[in-house]
Amino acid sequence: MSGPLEEVTEVTPGLGISAIEVREGRSAQVGKMGVLRVLPTKRRRTVGPWCFVDLIHPGDILEPPRLEIGPHPHIGLATATWLFRGSALHSDSLGTEQLIRPGELNLMTAGRGIAHAELGVEAPSGIGVGGIMGAQMWLALPETTRHGPSRFDHHGDLPLAELRSGEVRVIAGDFGEARSPARVDHPTVGLDVSFRGEVNVPLKSTFEHGVVPLDHPVKVEDAIVEPGSLALVPAGYEQLRIEERVGAARLLLLGGEPFGVEIKMWWNFVARTFEEITGAWRAWQQHDEDRFAPVPSKLARIEAPTPPWLREAL
Ligand code: MN
Repeated sequence: MSGPLEEVTEVTPGLGISAIEVREGRSAQVGKMGVLRVLPTKRRRTVGPWCFVDLIHPGDILEPPRLEIGPHPHIGLATATWLFRGSALHSDSLGTEQLIRPGELNLMTAGRGIAHAELGVEAPSGIGVGGIMGAQMWLALPETTRHGPSRFDHHGDLPLAELRSGEVRVIAGDFGEARSPARVDHPTVGLDVSFRGEVNVPLKSTFEHGVVPLDHPVKVEDAIVEPGSLALVPAGYEQLRIEERVGAARLLLLGGEPFGVEIKMWWNFVARTFEEITGAWRAWQQHDEDRFAPVPSKLARIEAPTPPWLREAL
């Protein structure tokens, strides 16, 4: 496997739209696991600091493969892992070994460099949220922390807020009085929303947002959005009307202040320049343990392909 992002991706620093737009996700493969890639999307956008969103979606729902992603590196981002079914063991180069179950957040801040592995320990039984086992998301780090130390935080108890016809689990940021304990380095919100009928979700109007339906199509204001697709909502909304037609629906609502800086993404790296990515790629290839210490995992290490901008030179 070559890692999540095979193409070089230059990401614009904000939505750059004035009305709600819907983007279809696309199918991709991470190891043996099928995913629906919601971000990056066409025209390469960040939604606040959110720069990458994969919904883990095994093709064969009756017998889903075990999550098995061997040691691989990251720089310049924080990974947020959010499961709907099954459980997985996270291990990383800080020495962390942490089991994660649905409703818990693993937040790993790469800073200058970290390596980690994920191993499914309990098969996801039955059909999950629309067949989706979980979400793997990245937050781009701002200048203040992207060269800094790496860290890992597990949050087993995230606050729940009530809506008139639903409830909101606050993964990141705050929602009304409810505040997630997760440390974020750029103003951000991440919500897991379950509701019936229609909800009006209050928003911070300085934030831009993305709505990701998980199990059923929903209507976001006047736009129909299918599971695996993304509704992009520009800044300026003080609330968002969301409707469902099948009895109940669940979705992720991600947002934040426009990131403001163009980022470059390739493979497992987020940076500002290709030179920075080349440096991280070389460190991983050369087993530089100062930058990427060993991961306590029996899974095979994932080797990096050659960055496209170096291929012709070789
Ligand atoms: Mn990873």
